[in-house]
Amino acid sequence: MKRIYADNAATTPLSPTALEAMLPYFREQFGNPSSFYREGQLAKSAMEEARIKIASCIGADYKQITFTSGGSEADNQAHITAAALGRSQGQMHIISTAFEHHAILHPLKALEKEGFRVTLLDVHENGIVDVAELEEAIGEDTCLVSVMFANNEIGTIQPIAEIGAVCRKHGVLFHTDAVQAVGHLEIDVERMCIDMLSASAHKFHGPKGSGFLYARKGIRLRPLIAGGAQEKSKRAGTENVAGIVGMAAALTESNARMCEQNKHIAACRDALIAGLETIEHCALNGDREQRLPSNVSFCFEGIEGESLLLLLDDKGICASSGSACTSGSLDPSHVLMAIGRVHDVAHGSLRLTLGEDITKEEVDYIVQAVKEVVERLRSFSPVWRDLCTGKAKHLL
Ligand SMILES: *Cc1c(COP(=O)(O)O)cnc(C)c1O
Repeated sequence: MKRIYADNAATTPLSPTALEAMLPYFREQFGNPSSFYREGQLAKSAMEEARIKIASCIGADYKQITFTSGGSEADNQAHITAAALGRSQGQMHIISTAFEHHAILHPLKALEKEGFRVTLLDVHENGIVDVAELEEAIGEDTCLVSVMFANNEIGTIQPIAEIGAVCRKHGVLFHTDAVQAVGHLEIDVERMCIDMLSASAHKFHGPKGSGFLYARKGIRLRPLIAGGAQEKSKRAGTENVAGIVGMAAALTESNARMCEQNKHIAACRDALIAGLETIEHCALNGDREQRLPSNVSFCFEGIEGESLLLLLDDKGICASSGSACTSGSLDPSHVLMAIGRVHDVAHGSLRLTLGEDITKEEVDYIVQAVKEVVERLRSFSPVWRDLCTGKAKHLL
């Protein structure tokens, strides 16, 4: 049976175009970009060409792109940079949100231990930051506002241009973790007043282990890795030439196809949402309108997300739940908690993130499969029995 890959927020398949673009750099063009002779210079010019292509996809200048090992590294570097700048100016306050990726939340925890004060904004029931609340939180000592472009679990898109305008007005640095948005949504760092932006190739059909950090002119990035003078001393280590070339090819392709593909994906998303909503006692997570074209996120009462995933896997569907079960923790997802789902409800979550090749038939198949599995799991769930007999109250 053909498997249905519906976990594109976790990673995406490598585009054949990107693979083709990368292959020469694994074979004959293996030179080190720092080497003086021809082979090295060929690698260097491929890398610089990639930088120009990537910059043009987000409305930036190539000088403002620094290559990293992925989204997590870019997020860490952005925060370390802003914190160092803040500390040097006596500004020790950082504003972010409660539902950021752990690559933001964990560095923030570390900065708190170093004396920074961190405000995590509420994202409300719809999973969207309130710009007025954000502005209210900005003080004289705020050195950074960091708000993700689109959430990786519930797919909600934040009012990035408005947030950028508010930060610019108050002279505060604005970083966005745009890992879920780059290659999927239109981005213009100038128009949106974005000072720093993180991206990761494997979320837009590029290779894993390759990403970039955009930093506006005038922001001197602090290196996380010390060593050679690569990336203008902002990131030591011999560059991942093939990964960088593959990332540029993937992003160029994704951006060119974005408009057309988003229409198709969004239509499939809406059909999937409509189908799943016919199941009783469930709810869509996150705003219906301001959401990624690919994202479907639900909570079902009376079931365990992990069991749901196992049974869907048996039916050939790759999906994910919001819960942190993979990390060995039984805590429900911080994202679902941030939008006000209670523990029990948050445990019954399901995230389906669609790719360009999804078909209407596959959507129908997923709806049918989820219906069957939810019904089966509920049939032997003590929690569900209590809900049905009135011992416990339905929340959805
Ligand atoms: C995947 C992801 C990351 C981490 O990116 P890596 O390249 O895997 O390190 C960070 N933020 C968000 C929103 C993501 O979805």
